[in-house]
Amino acid sequence: MFSSWLSLGALRDIDKLCGRYNSRALQVKRVCRHCSIPTMACDNAFYPWQHVMPDAVHALVVAKDVDGLKAISQHDLKNAFYNPKLDIGRNPRGIHGMTPGEPLHVVDLGLFKYALEGFYICLEMNLK
Ligand SMILES: [Zn+2]
Repeated sequence: MFSSWLSLGALRDIDKLCGRYNSRALQVKRVCRHCSIPTMACDNAFYPWQHVMPDAVHALVVAKDVDGLKAISQHDLKNAFYNPKLDIGRNPRGIHGMTPGEPLHVVDLGLFKYALEGFYICLEMNLK
């Protein structure tokens, strides 16, 4: 699954699938397609973030709340992945939870560390 997502293009391009802005400039309110952390707070590991939920984004689109969408760095578009008739699995976070992790979450000591451990285990190599 992970490799097929990567074949779609660079991780930044996956923002397009989520309808998220493709910029991480300081003027952009949110820096992540997965969570609510504001760009200006992404250096705070203890920020009380929440997952981006497709229903919340879709509700803003339906309400034509362009300012609300701008506040969460989402484009005003009809996202095919929000269509309940499209079976994309049971992840309640939908496309926002199915795409590969943001570098801000997986590089350094995040999931990247566990991915390396998994590779070593698969190669039957001892980390210690
Ligand atoms: Zn995030």
